[in-house]
Order: sequence, then structure tokens, then C-alpha cells
Amino acid sequence: MIRTGLGYDLHRLVEGRPLIIGGVHIPFEKGEYGHSDGDALLHAVTDALLGAAGIGDIGEFFPPTDPQWKGSDSRKLLAVAWAAVLEKGWKLENLDCVIALQEPKFLPWRTEVRESIASVLGVSADQVFVKAKTGEGMGDVGRGDAVEVWASCLLASRD
Ligand code: MG
Repeated sequence: MIRTGLGYDLHRLVEGRPLIIGGVHIPFEKGEYGHSDGDALLHAVTDALLGAAGIGDIGEFFPPTDPQWKGSDSRKLLAVAWAAVLEKGWKLENLDCVIALQEPKFLPWRTEVRESIASVLGVSADQVFVKAKTGEGMGDVGRGDAVEVWASCLLASRD
């Protein structure tokens, strides 16, 4: 049996916050505003995996009203969600993601980000792909005020 999952996230980019993408701190003048560390990529990945398994979503697992998750490292959130997916008997075939980000350039960080996500999930980096697009100067992404992410995954049953 196989299942697909889709995740999406959007975070504002503001000064005075670190830019964390897929668990990697990328030096930049702005970062994601959010209750946790604001890692939009890991949030979209978490939702894709939870959705594929049909066991909930990130808001349900980690309510923004719960002080326990304030300032959380999103790798921890992903690890908790992934453990719940594994518990249901699934394994990951692959994960594919698109980040919409005007600046900075993502390509130099891609390998590190793929390895970072793969290490949280206990899979090979070649099962995880991430590509970036700019906003072509248009809209919130194009003005550098937001980062937007889509993530798609394929799960297969382990037996
Ligand atoms: Mg988020």
C-alpha cells in the first residue's frame, strides 16, 4: 500500500530572527517569524508526512497555544511526528519540496538541507529533494517579506 501526502507553510520574514530552512541556519538579515523556530520547510514536511498517514496535522500535534513548543527546534517537532507515522507501519519512499524565497540564494545550501532532513527521518539524502524558486519580485515572497513552502511525500507500508 502507498499513500501520498501534501504539506504547505508560509512564514513572514522579519529582522531579528534567524533564517532556519530544513534545520539549517542560513546567515541572512531576516528570519521566519513564528511560535517555534519558524522553519517553514520542516513544517510543510511534517504536515505532508502526517497527512499521508492520515493521523493529524502540525497544528493538532503542536498547538501554537501550548507553551511547550514555544521557540522549538522544528527538527524536534518533525521527529515526534515522524515517530507517530512510523508507529503506523509506514516507511518513506521519497519527499520532494519547493521553497519560494526571494533571497538569499538557496542552491549553495541544498546538499546540507537535504542531509539535515534525511537525518531526522533516518533515510538517505537521495530520498529527499528540495528546490527553490524566487517570487520574481512579485507579491510577499518577491518583496522578501515571506517564505512559502510546498512538500509532497510518498509513504509505503513496511510489510
Ligand atoms: Mg509554520
